[in-house]
Amino acid sequence: MFLFPAALLKRKLKACSYSLVVATFGVVSLSSFSNSTFLATEAHAADKAATEKGVVNIYSYRQPYLVKPLLEEFTKQTGIQTKVIFAKKGLIERIAAEGKLSPADVLLTVDIGRLSAAVEKGISQPVKSSAIEGNIPAKYRSAKGDWFGLTVRSRVVYASKDRVGQDAISYEELADPKWRGKICMRSGQHVYNVAMIASMIAHNGTEKTKTWLKGLKANLARKPSGNDRAQIKAVFAGQCDLAIGNTYYMGKMQNNEKKPEQKKWAASVKLLFPNTKTRGAHVNLSGMVLAKHAPNKEAAVKLMEFLSSEKAQQIYSKVNFEYPVKEGVAWSDLVKSWGEFKADDLALDKIAELRKAASLLVDETDLNNGPSS
Ligand code: FE
Repeated sequence: MFLFPAALLKRKLKACSYSLVVATFGVVSLSSFSNSTFLATEAHAADKAATEKGVVNIYSYRQPYLVKPLLEEFTKQTGIQTKVIFAKKGLIERIAAEGKLSPADVLLTVDIGRLSAAVEKGISQPVKSSAIEGNIPAKYRSAKGDWFGLTVRSRVVYASKDRVGQDAISYEELADPKWRGKICMRSGQHVYNVAMIASMIAHNGTEKTKTWLKGLKANLARKPSGNDRAQIKAVFAGQCDLAIGNTYYMGKMQNNEKKPEQKKWAASVKLLFPNTKTRGAHVNLSGMVLAKHAPNKEAAVKLMEFLSSEKAQQIYSKVNFEYPVKEGVAWSDLVKSWGEFKADDLALDKIAELRKAASLLVDETDLNNGPSS
């Protein structure tokens, strides 16, 4: 039985501009359904999955190309089957709406903002596992065990090879008038930037961060818009000299066979890890949460343990160019090619706490209106 009234579910799905995909790994290869097929099959599939002993149901914001090899390896190692619902938005809300009868066992997502939102919306439950705790350093998981980081990504500066001579930079320096009209960034309210700004508040205090944001705003080449890669493209096109973006986008551009023009964008910039001589570069996480009403808790925890293990951590680095949270796991060659860096030691719990204050500062300084206002 599926408790979602069909009309409500339909409305929810209609609100989604993306297509939902249900996939079963380890049993059959990826199978996809249109939204309408999803409606018809979902209750059956989810309910069946929930009652199948040992099948882990995953709700994933992370994409199939990354999740598939991880789950195939998990099934190979444990014999446990998995089922996945992929979506770009709305999964946390959906688990909350499904309540006690939610088939979700594990949520996979990115960013401390979304991990902490899962906790705030009451859809997670704490996990106690010595294997997970041994694999994931304390700063990359919640003290209560209700969210865990799986990979690290740094928010860095992409600088034009042609127009920027320096090979080191700090976040603070982005407010220096020497960069007037030369910086591109996505919306200040995007989770990636909110976390970066929260880290500035943690280190420098609210007032200094506000002044910094005003300086950064004055230095923007244009109104914040587009995603991280769009900013790097703008550096390539000569619209700005510096762009703020996450590290793995470098790998995605360097390796992009479908859109080979992105290789040129990547080749036009150098990746600068900010604050290497001081506190280190700001880092964020992708991670996982055990769903509050997980029907297959035991198998779900096994999956969570696997995702924190060396083998899975290597897959993350190789497939999506992220940094393993587990110490001592080799980075992929491409990730290595960007050089060693010092990561900011600030606990991600602290960043989660300061996100609201960071978001308020973005509004107060009118950052998203760009340099002219
Ligand atoms: Fe991203």
